[in-house]
Amino acid sequence: MQIFLTLDYELFSGDNPGTVENSIILPTEKLLEVGDKYDAKFVFFVDSGYLDRLSFYKKRYEKLAKDYEKIVNQLRFLDANGHDIQLHIHPHWEDCTFDGEKWSMDTKRFRIHSFEEDEIEDIVCRYKKALTDIVGDKVFAYRAGGWCLQPFDKLKKSLKKHNIWLDSTVYEDGLNSSDTHYYDFRNAPKKSLWKFEKDPVVEDINGFFTEIPISTYPVSPLFFWKFAYHKKFAKNDHKVYGDGVTAGGSSNSLILKMLTRYSKSLVSLDGYRASLLKNALKENSKKELEGNFVVIGHPKAVTPYSLKELDNFLDFSIHSEHKVTTFARFTADK
Ligand SMILES: [Zn+2]
Repeated sequence: MQIFLTLDYELFSGDNPGTVENSIILPTEKLLEVGDKYDAKFVFFVDSGYLDRLSFYKKRYEKLAKDYEKIVNQLRFLDANGHDIQLHIHPHWEDCTFDGEKWSMDTKRFRIHSFEEDEIEDIVCRYKKALTDIVGDKVFAYRAGGWCLQPFDKLKKSLKKHNIWLDSTVYEDGLNSSDTHYYDFRNAPKKSLWKFEKDPVVEDINGFFTEIPISTYPVSPLFFWKFAYHKKFAKNDHKVYGDGVTAGGSSNSLILKMLTRYSKSLVSLDGYRASLLKNALKENSKKELEGNFVVIGHPKAVTPYSLKELDNFLDFSIHSEHKVTTFARFTADK
């Protein structure tokens, strides 16, 4: 399989979004240390809403000028070393303000769908530019913030106009509906790549867009109990690098379902979920050996434990027929 190690490069969305150093820069360096051992390259989905906001404030506040510079330097380094820099949109940054000391976070407009179509066009344009200003004109892939990709018709024109043609947001059985989130991927094709036009879960062989979904793996309720436990009582190896808090996401009924029924877990590098990596690859390659295996992760949610699991996973992968690649390389090879 082609393995894509994708990372949403971002701060937290809660009242305390965390520091750039601990939630982004340091854990990214830790990930690179492991990846470099195997010459594995990552795909970074960069929260360009945050980047655009930093860029807006950097003239006024020295502190944010420094944060911006740290991120620019790291993104340039990543780009120069063969990692992908792609577009991730969290439009709630439009409503977040900085008072000279701290951010005041506002996630009422968490979904891009909270904006009008002409505002969406402006957001996609500015956010893509926030990236191309740093790494040049090589951004073509998208991951929706909080997986809120639907209804797609509101986004379609803007993405097309800015030549964003690859999406990696969908995951099998994905479903969420809360005050801030909405998506329903239950009818998505059971494939690891397809084309689409109107709706990312409806295949259209003549469509402009390509979907390479995030991989999943079936897990028992016991796994989610362990996962919840490690999250709540995290210490030592299970403590995340990130130092912020997340704003509410999944609805309570969804969490209850995960804790009581067999369900699909996203294949992830984050925390305790990383324990599933190897088995998930084996299981997915049984279905489609030549297919794509997309792992999601967040530097802020990485732990010393998950780094060890990543190391084991890469060691296993390179001694098998699988190949770690990026969307840019995958596209160039075709
Ligand atoms: Zn995100």
